[in-house]
Amino acid sequence: MDCIFCKIVSKEMKSDIVYENDMILAFKDINPQAPVHHLIVPKKHISSMSDCSSEDSEIIIELFLRAKEIAENTPELEGGYRLVINNGKEAGQEVFHLHLHLLGGRRMSWPPG
Ligand code: AMP
Ligand code: ZN
Repeated sequence: MDCIFCKIVSKEMKSDIVYENDMILAFKDINPQAPVHHLIVPKKHISSMSDCSSEDSEIIIELFLRAKEIAENTPELEGGYRLVINNGKEAGQEVFHLHLHLLGGRRMSWPPG
């Protein structure tokens, strides 16, 4: 399978890792959209949110709780942060390995583009 995030997880491809445990990996986005822009991915390949099932519930909880923990340990995010999952092409998903965007360090606008 030719998945860039699987390659990042297996360390076949380089990334700037900010956190890792047995279930998830967090690394800096290569094209940051904010002063802080991390991606948090499950080590298991799941293509998108649509492909999650209840058997992945532990992974989903882990993604969100670790994102919160990383945010709490990042001084630039003291004032707030945004968590985003793009699901499907129409929503802007480009990499089909589930990932949570952790964004912040600047004022965010709403609605998103
Ligand atoms: P999405 O559009 O939600 O699928 O987000 C994919 C994200 O992955 C984009 O923000 C890209 O900048 C980021 N990205 C793509 N390739 C890499 C890479 N090799 N290392 C880090 N981030 C990447
Ligand atoms: Zn993958």
